[in-house]
Amino acid sequence: MNVDDRLVEHEGPPRYCATHTNVETGLSCGRCGRLICPRCLVQTPVGGRCRACARVRRSPVFDVSGRQYALAAGASVLVGGVTGVGWAVLLAAIGWIFFLPWLLAAGVGYLVGEAVSASVNRKRGTGLAVIAALGVLVAYAVVVGVTLGRSGLGFYTPFNIVFALMFLAVAVYIAVNRVR
Ligand SMILES: [Zn+2]
Ligand SMILES: [Zn+2]
Repeated sequence: MNVDDRLVEHEGPPRYCATHTNVETGLSCGRCGRLICPRCLVQTPVGGRCRACARVRRSPVFDVSGRQYALAAGASVLVGGVTGVGWAVLLAAIGWIFFLPWLLAAGVGYLVGEAVSASVNRKRGTGLAVIAALGVLVAYAVVVGVTLGRSGLGFYTPFNIVFALMFLAVAVYIAVNRVR
C-alpha cells in the first residue's frame, strides 16, 4: 500500500453507527444500508445485517409449528396410501402405454405435494419436503407390494428396477418442489 492509497482511505467525513452515534464505523447493513458498528453487526447466512434486519430475515412462510408438521405427515401418508393404490391399479391396467408410467409418477408426486402444501396453508421448508417425500415412498411401497403380489420377484429385472427407480425419482422430485 503506498501513501496515496492511505490518503484516499482517510478521505471523506467520518461515518458513525446509526445506533451508537459516537462510534465511527465503515460497516453498513447489507439489507437496509443503515450504518452499523461491530456491536450492532449480526452475522447471518446471507451476510452482515443490522439487528432489525437480522430479526425479520426469516419469512413466516418457513415457520412451521409442530402441529402443522403432524398435519402434514398425516396428509402425506394418507394421500400417499390412496394415490399408491390408484398408481398400482392404473399401472397394471394401462401401464404399457409408453408415456403413461411417467405421467402416473408425476401425478402421484403432484397430489402428495399438493396435499402436504394445502394441509399447512402453503408453508414451505426442508422438513415439509422430507414429509412429502415420505408420502411418495408410501405410495411407492403400495405399488411395489402390489407388483410383487401379482408378478413376484421375477418382475424386478435390472431393466425394470432402473425404470422403477426413475419413476420414484420423478414422483419425489415433483412432490418435494411443491413445498420446498
Ligand atoms: Zn438493516
Ligand atoms: Zn452500533
